[in-house]
Amino acid sequence: MKYTEAPNQATAYLREALPLMVRNNIPPNPLNYALWYTYVSKKVPALNAALDTTLNTYGTCPNLLSEQLYQNHLAENDTAGGNSEVLTGLLKLTSMLQDQAGTVAGDADTYSDQLRKSFAALQASREDPDSAMSLDSIIQELATNTEAINESTRRFQRKIDAAQKEIEQLRQELTKTRQDARMDVLTGLYNRRVFDTEINQLIDLDLPAGFSMILVDVDHFKHFNDTYGHLMGDKVLQYVGRILKEKCVEPLIPVRFGGEEFAVLMPGASLTDSEQLAEELRRRIEAIRIRQKSSGNVISSITASFGVATYASGDSTQTLIERADSALYRAKEQGRNQVVLQQTASIDRA
Ligand code: GH3
Ligand code: MG
Ligand code: MG
Repeated sequence: MKYTEAPNQATAYLREALPLMVRNNIPPNPLNYALWYTYVSKKVPALNAALDTTLNTYGTCPNLLSEQLYQNHLAENDTAGGNSEVLTGLLKLTSMLQDQAGTVAGDADTYSDQLRKSFAALQASREDPDSAMSLDSIIQELATNTEAINESTRRFQRKIDAAQKEIEQLRQELTKTRQDARMDVLTGLYNRRVFDTEINQLIDLDLPAGFSMILVDVDHFKHFNDTYGHLMGDKVLQYVGRILKEKCVEPLIPVRFGGEEFAVLMPGASLTDSEQLAEELRRRIEAIRIRQKSSGNVISSITASFGVATYASGDSTQTLIERADSALYRAKEQGRNQVVLQQTASIDRA
């Protein structure tokens, strides 16, 4: 992220950011300055949306989440392959602008020398009207030099405009590269990598409001593929993905867990909240209808099973997922197409 605004604009942003940081109990450190500076500048709308949601959920922005927001929206030093190209591009642009700025500064120095000379000549001509340089030629020289410096400034402005466009394009590429590493291509949901990061963070935070999770597994999907073909199976996964995306909006985090399994992380949600959502998802999946083009038949046999668990203090990522997984296992055992909550013994532990 490059900050290219004029100094007075930059000061105005900081002046706006600091009281916001104080009000939301944000520790003053360079990372948070950058985060909140960008927030008030509204340059990265996705950051504003995420930060607003975080503030609504937690009443502040916990350090871990600040770091994550910084990584996701501001940091340029990703190690992912495509980003090094973007960084090289940015470096080239910056050095080109520096060169140009140097040229303009050089031109400006020459101009100010010329002005000084013209001024001296004017004074000389006032003191001695018969002096060597005529008023006409002094004015002519001034006009020529002024035009030259104007042209130099205009050239620089054009370069800056072009560079700004290029920076915006690079920023978009950077965002996309980062996005690609986090997305599941088939469903457009976040992938397992995001799930792992998020659940670890939620556990580290050990928030008083806690969180819950849902594991989803499409029923008899192997048989579905065998009957209708893998492409039709892919279509089902896309439908399920669409339902999850529609029903699980921020701060909920829906992901494709792997294969025909999905998961939803629900910060601040109780076991009952998760049960309700799982039941709603179950009904929506059960209602999926797909027309098979070849036969004209409507497929209406798609269902999924759900395991729901809630975080208890002392849980590790593994113990929590295991609890959700064994609830899911029981849902399968008891006949599938149903929601099963974690065993109460685990709740007693909390
Ligand atoms: P259960 O009800 O017990 O979950 O049975 P199941 O058949 O769904 O479970 P199983 O683990 O035996 O099979 C999962 C199947 O999901 C096998 C695999 O081919 C299919 N699958 C996994 N990923 C994809 C995918 O991306 N596309 C398609 N079409 N199928 C997939
Ligand atoms: Mg499975
Ligand atoms: Mg399955």
